Amino acid sequence: MLWFIVTTGVLAVLTVFCLIRTERSGKTIAPYVTHLLIWILIPLATNAVLSFSADPIVIKFCYTAYFISTTILLCYLVSFTLVYCGYQYKLDTIKKVLLGIAVFDALNILINWFTGHVFILTDTVNEGGADIGFVPAWYHKIHLILSAVLILLALYALVMKMMSSSKLYRDRYLSIFAALTVTTVFEMIHIIANNTVDRSIIGIAVCGIFVYIYSIEYVPSALMDEMKKTVLSSISDGILFFDENRNCIFANEAARFMLNIDSNNLSSGLEKLLALTGEEPESSAQYNSKILTCTMTENGQEYIYDVEGHKLHDLQGKLIGSFAKITDTTERTQRENMNRFLATHDKLTGIYNTDRLYDSVREVLKENPDKDFYIMTSDIKEFKLVNDRYGRNFADKLLIRIAELLKEKAVSSTTRYGRLSGDKFGCIIAKENYNEQIIIQAMNEVPNVGLNVVIPIIIHAGVYEIEDRNMPVSAMFDRASIAISAIKHDASLKVAYYEDNARDEMLWGQKVTEQIDNAILTGQIVPYLQAQVSREGKVVGAEVLVRWIHPDEGFMPPGKFLSILEKNGMIGKIDMYIWECACRILRRWAYEGRNDLYLSVNISPKDFYLMDVPAVIIDLADKYELDRKKLRLEITETIMMDDIEEKLKTIDRLREAGFIVEMDDFGSGYSSLNMLKDMPVDVLKLDMIFLKDNSANERTRKIMALIIDLAKSLDVPVIAEGVETVEQVDFLAQLGCDFFQGYYFARPVSLDEYEKKNLTA
Ligand code: C2E
Ligand code: MG
Ligand code: MG
Repeated sequence: MLWFIVTTGVLAVLTVFCLIRTERSGKTIAPYVTHLLIWILIPLATNAVLSFSADPIVIKFCYTAYFISTTILLCYLVSFTLVYCGYQYKLDTIKKVLLGIAVFDALNILINWFTGHVFILTDTVNEGGADIGFVPAWYHKIHLILSAVLILLALYALVMKMMSSSKLYRDRYLSIFAALTVTTVFEMIHIIANNTVDRSIIGIAVCGIFVYIYSIEYVPSALMDEMKKTVLSSISDGILFFDENRNCIFANEAARFMLNIDSNNLSSGLEKLLALTGEEPESSAQYNSKILTCTMTENGQEYIYDVEGHKLHDLQGKLIGSFAKITDTTERTQRENMNRFLATHDKLTGIYNTDRLYDSVREVLKENPDKDFYIMTSDIKEFKLVNDRYGRNFADKLLIRIAELLKEKAVSSTTRYGRLSGDKFGCIIAKENYNEQIIIQAMNEVPNVGLNVVIPIIIHAGVYEIEDRNMPVSAMFDRASIAISAIKHDASLKVAYYEDNARDEMLWGQKVTEQIDNAILTGQIVPYLQAQVSREGKVVGAEVLVRWIHPDEGFMPPGKFLSILEKNGMIGKIDMYIWECACRILRRWAYEGRNDLYLSVNISPKDFYLMDVPAVIIDLADKYELDRKKLRLEITETIMMDDIEEKLKTIDRLREAGFIVEMDDFGSGYSSLNMLKDMPVDVLKLDMIFLKDNSANERTRKIMALIIDLAKSLDVPVIAEGVETVEQVDFLAQLGCDFFQGYYFARPVSLDEYEKKNLTA
């Protein structure tokens, strides 16, 4: 019997060991395994005692404990099996039933101490001497049936699970099932043989160890392998495994696709990988978790891969192999490249954007400290109109065309260009590469945007020569733009160069534009009157000339601000204001009975584009109930620059309405004698330019004589402007001039002064 005691002892130690490991595992199934193992220890111990004890009390106690513990053990076996197999349905109820069975059986076995309905012990005489005999009573059968039911329940759960789960899981259940079945067979043998000691308890202990191994320690490697394989196949990264001799032992689907590896011939894996990474086989085997970015062209398409390699070592540090991970970064890289491009380039034209252009200007200046540079900007005249009139599509094409031209022409290594905003482009160009003719030629090429029609587009360029390299780049471009503003209204000038006064002019222009409305409202704009005198020296009327009495700038003649207002289209406001002033003065004079004096007002050529001049003037004359003859209108021949028919009609309308129309500044600009013939005017004002040219000049004399003669023949009286000396008066009178205006007679003066001088009589 010694062997049995030793075996149970060893098994008990192993079971305790398993118990401790189970407790420490922290697995959810651990409490079930723990209970099972604890309740295995009791039948082990009682059977060990039974194998040598002869004391009837001890034996009776051992049997009692043995029967009770096996029932509890089997109940725990059932609940363990259900949890182990994943049958959690109504587990709590089942546990309660099991508890009921255990309590019921334990009570019967305890009562047996007094009733003997489970078993009784008898004194028997064996060959070896007196022995205690075990005689089962009627309840013993019930106990056995209950035990059998519990075992069958556990076996049934295991069988069901085996049948329903994957092959990979089968050994997990089969092992416990087999151990349990063998133990049950031994147990049956024990029952049939009616041995005092239950040696099959060894089987139960072994079964407990199996339970421990499979539920706590077991790692299903085949299952894990399968899972790893599936996961590796499903990921988009390419994975390759190499053994210690650099033989490819695994390549997932992605890797096989990327490297074009035949799944039946993995041996080409290393070779193909190296072809991609471009490293020598010797050195590449050393790759150790560094990332190589490689490109591969397949069927005309470029792929970008990140290849990462890792060496694998065992616990002793010996090389066991390596693996490589290939990530397809084509899309990501392209997206990043695109984002990087968009951050520094203009989306529409693909050339540098403002920030990048500024940076590159700084770079070029830094890299070429000995070279002189120009900063240039371009501007399309009235680009907004181009947009409105020809559509956005066309305007875009135009901008793309400009960018293309810049690309074509900017051949020097130090030239940088970009789009600054809207229709504004900018570039830096070394002085030595600069050629104005090429620029003008390029600007002339732009309107041919590839459409059938050539659009009248005017492009201006402004150039600033960099003097102070430390100046902010934006200020350099501002200066080039300021240069443009000086020629913006002149289509014949293409390129302008920045001068310091251009900047001042621009600032002054801004100031005038901002302040003019308020100046009109607050009476800073005033009419000055310059007398017009007859041959006899009698004042017949006056020209109304605008003046700005500026709170800061002081007294300003029109030359300081009128051209700005003409450029920005605000001239109409100030003219209408002066016309109305003139009307008011005439009205007052009429009330005062001074109907002998007229006033002549200036009409800017721009006014004809800004308003219906005859309608406005007629309205004003009517509003102040004027004798229309008293309001004379001065127009210049420049109005005849375009739309001649239309302008002639306008002049006719004014004359038909009863106004006297005077041709101002005749001879100053484009005058031709022909025009005089065609233009329906009532009075001719001879420009002072003739007088400046010194009246002694014979040629001038002749021209003036001719003009005056022609005017006379057309019945048009002549007023000479800018008369400053008595000689001029005499000379002009001699030629037949009828009226005079000039400093010799009177300077332009305020209304007050004019009235004091001319209306007091
Ligand atoms: P304009 O219509 O030819 O006016 C005559 C200009 O000659 C005036 O200059 C006048 O002051 C100046 N002047 C008169 N006599 C002499 C002289 O003996 N010697 C010299 N050197 N100059 C003389 P101002 O007032 O500076 O006006 C300049 C121009 O501005 C005018 O030339 C006219 O074209 C324009 N202007 C003046 N007021 C108005 C206005 O209210 N509306 C518009 N549209 N233009 C105006
Ligand atoms: Mg005038
Ligand atoms: Mg004039």
